[in-house]
Amino acid sequence: MSAPAFARIAFIGIGLIGSSLARVLRRESPQTALVACARRAETLAAVERLGLADAVTDDPAAAVAGANLVVLATPLSAYAAIGRRIAPALAPGTIVTDVGSVKGAVIRDLAPLLPDGVHFVPGHPVAGTEHSGPEAGFAELFRDRWCILTPPPGTDEAAIERVADLWRAAGMRVVRMAADHHDKVLAVTSHLPHLIAYTIVGTATDLGDDLKSEVIAYSAGGFRDFTRIAASDPVMWRDIFLSNREAVLEILQRFSEDLTALQRAIRWGEGEVLERRFTETRAVRRSIIEAKQA
Ligand code: NAP
Repeated sequence: MSAPAFARIAFIGIGLIGSSLARVLRRESPQTALVACARRAETLAAVERLGLADAVTDDPAAAVAGANLVVLATPLSAYAAIGRRIAPALAPGTIVTDVGSVKGAVIRDLAPLLPDGVHFVPGHPVAGTEHSGPEAGFAELFRDRWCILTPPPGTDEAAIERVADLWRAAGMRVVRMAADHHDKVLAVTSHLPHLIAYTIVGTATDLGDDLKSEVIAYSAGGFRDFTRIAASDPVMWRDIFLSNREAVLEILQRFSEDLTALQRAIRWGEGEVLERRFTETRAVRRSIIEAKQA
């Protein structure tokens, strides 16, 4: 990396995503002082044990004091309260960025709270696993994935570029997008698939005891992949659906119509409808593999 010259970076929230970025910085920019903030003593103890920060605190205002860059990496529902806590402690010129999976709501919640002279560059590294917490992080998480930055119009260009350089140093490809466009795209590629997985696994859970044990025993037949997605953090995903309500509801409506069309094809024995659709979807998989995003 040509490490962006941040002397001091504060992480508010240091779970899967925050700790993965902290690991990148430890490797690529060891001179940068890292401060980590989380609520629970065991989280902070894990961060210390793993050597992910030079200082830890449960006080967001103390964490951001003197930082050139602040990275918010908590569940989305914590943002507004954190914004109120850190605002008075942010020095002019500080860059505030985040990693949240929804961008419109983040800008609405956070931007009005930040003082003049503080640069807000919202971001979303599109990379993750179903695991949580600082132990789950790893520096290679971001490699060859996309990071989407959604700076509101008028954001300081130099601040945007410094945040972009940070993610490039983590191995990411960086793109800029309007926040509402980001939220629509992610509703399709990430939020809807999670909702479907949560639903399928929930339906199986509601089955009678006999059937349930068989579902687990024979889970290799497709169900297992859904259980991996449906094992994702419940609080994080609750927040994503509540924060991206409009886009998710819109895409869910489209999905329901398409599902009904397939249901109808099955009912009326329209094999060619099914085969055509499945052939199209197979081609999508191939494009994802070719784009090295599989
Ligand atoms: P995570 O592993 O659960 O970590 C969340 C961190 O935030 C923990 O360190 C937690 O520690 C801390 N935290 C929670 N509430 C807090 C508060 N009020 N004040 C200070 N710290 C707080 O979550 P994650 O997977 O890294 O996700 C973090 C963000 O990244 C979310 O906004 C999510 O939308 C986004 N994201 C996630 C993924 C993914 O696949 N996981 C991918 C891209 C983006 P304590 O519980 O000890 O406070």
